[in-house]
Amino acid sequence: MLKGKTALVTGSTSGIGLGIAQALAQQGANIVLNGFGDVEGPKAAIAQHGVKVAYHGADMSKPAEIEDMMRVAAEQFGRIDILVNNAGIQHVARIENFPAERWDAIIAINLSSAFHATRLALPAMQAAKWGRIINVASVHGLVASAEKSAYVAAKHGIVGLTKVTALENATSGITCNAICPGWVLTPLVQKQVDAKAASQGVPNDEAIKLLLGEKEPSMQFTTPEELGALAVFFCSPAANNVRGVAWNMDGGWAAQ
Ligand code: NAD
Repeated sequence: MLKGKTALVTGSTSGIGLGIAQALAQQGANIVLNGFGDVEGPKAAIAQHGVKVAYHGADMSKPAEIEDMMRVAAEQFGRIDILVNNAGIQHVARIENFPAERWDAIIAINLSSAFHATRLALPAMQAAKWGRIINVASVHGLVASAEKSAYVAAKHGIVGLTKVTALENATSGITCNAICPGWVLTPLVQKQVDAKAASQGVPNDEAIKLLLGEKEPSMQFTTPEELGALAVFFCSPAANNVRGVAWNMDGGWAAQ
């Protein structure tokens, strides 16, 4: 379905970003990976689908590096057709204890990076009269949890940015939508499981049950594969008129 298209997925060396990149590659899209840590493993996983794969190591907290990534990716593939703004980090602390430096980093990586990548991707999409922008927000873009001030602020912000991007391009073939996962067992969440196991003095599987039990009625994690399938739907012709939604896949979290 996406043969000949190019998708750039930020923060795609791990977790949800890698799951979405794989799902898009399975549909034939060439992929530009980004993120830290192991690069060769994710590159090989994408190449298995017989598509072209490139990597750019831009630090998404740095606008100049984002500009370089978007320029290099466009030069290499001609154009970015699908942009998935996914890179994100977390820090958990009450507001009065929240390090100002962590606040700035979360706003930069989880919110401002999406603005920069979007503003740089749009002109080529507008010229081509087709594009897909998918913002990986969170159920925390819809509801809040204590001790996640920066994350919740950034995720509510990205849901707002999604709506504005969708509206400004509403008469064109460019759509912008957000995905709002509940708990997904990635390295970002394993850190929170580890913290719960330590604070409650319980083993990993018990800590997982406590974590899910607090918020997620299904008592199940959403998987990167399920989120990848939703991203593929947003890229499909059936989603041509899906514009500015914040679609939760959260096991009933926000329904409560
Ligand atoms: P993860 O830690 O597995 O992956 C994060 C990715 O972002 C990695 O590839 C990492 O290298 C990259 N990254 C981090 N800082 C970066 C930076 N400065 N520049 C470039 N890349 C950077 O986490 P994940 O759980 O897959 O999270 C992906 C997205 O999904 C985030 O936006 C997160 O907020 C969101 N999300 C996660 C969950 C969950 O339960 N895991 C739930 C809702 C939303």
